[in-house]
Amino acid sequence: MAPDGTHPKNYFLKNNGLGRILYDLNFSVLQKYRCFANCKKCYTKDFWIPSSQVKNFISSSVASGIQRQWFEIFNYFEMVSIIDDLKFIKDEAPHLWPFYINHQDVFYLSSLNDNAIIRHLPILTKEFFPKGIHEVCLSEEFILRQGIAVIIKMLIEIHVRVPIQKIVFYRLPSEAMGVEAELSHWCADNGVSFQCNYSVEESVSQSLASRSQSLFLMYDQFYIDLKMATTASGKPFASLENFAPVSFLPIVLHARRDSLALVGKHSEHQYYSYIRQHLNIYDGYNFIPMPVLPTFTKYYRALVSKGLAVETKYGLLVVENQNLGGIKPLIDFKDKE
Ligand code: SF4
Repeated sequence: MAPDGTHPKNYFLKNNGLGRILYDLNFSVLQKYRCFANCKKCYTKDFWIPSSQVKNFISSSVASGIQRQWFEIFNYFEMVSIIDDLKFIKDEAPHLWPFYINHQDVFYLSSLNDNAIIRHLPILTKEFFPKGIHEVCLSEEFILRQGIAVIIKMLIEIHVRVPIQKIVFYRLPSEAMGVEAELSHWCADNGVSFQCNYSVEESVSQSLASRSQSLFLMYDQFYIDLKMATTASGKPFASLENFAPVSFLPIVLHARRDSLALVGKHSEHQYYSYIRQHLNIYDGYNFIPMPVLPTFTKYYRALVSKGLAVETKYGLLVVENQNLGGIKPLIDFKDKE
């Protein structure tokens, strides 16, 4: 059984499969993620490279060649979301900042947490207007320190230029409902979804788990999760230079299966051992069954529109491998259930 009680095969396709992995690409112009917002409670900072080493991960330019490759990749993802600390890019890597300014309408912003809102207010109200912000995460402790009126004023100023999609509020167990009520009313009045969580730790681990279903493109390297994209020792699973739409799919699936195996080492849950033992991935494939890459994904549509695959009733036939002799699926499960 999978964590939600369904069959592991169905759970994998829905939660860890290509439909999920290829939806939202996390993007950075740096080669490793680093944030300088210095929030009181930050549960990713243990992964970070030391600030003295950050300069080693700042590329010297955004050459036109790499821009071309980025935009080619972006064609395959429903959305591309910046994870950078924009203030840091603007101040400390000013040669990279014009790329974002010139292409701001291509991107979403992944999230803003506590201090990052204050830190990014001038940028997001005066010069950089991406398509939206997926999540603004606010702890009650932070709101009480700043004052709810100040926070709402900042949200209004940002939302009018860059639509906020969701606010995640971390509630202190001992506090009255005042802050939560004001924030949730503001969300209801402004078409922003609202989520209240009671444990910051739980919320952050949920958010990390959810973000880690997506890929990270850090300048020219792909990483399978946030921890890999953040730590100096985290290894990429693919590079931009070698990206080819057909061969990329098994490479991604191998990386996801390996990352689930790592999680499984610390979990008794039989889902992880099922995936390790039963999921087969075939590099030489010529067929992508429909449930493996759903028709609604941009990757599916791009493979078809670029002539790399042909639609059938049951999935996509890959043009370049059609002479392999018979149907060779991208993946199957050993038990064939
Ligand atoms: S904005 Fe996020 S990553 Fe940066 S310090 Fe705050 S919690 Fe940590």
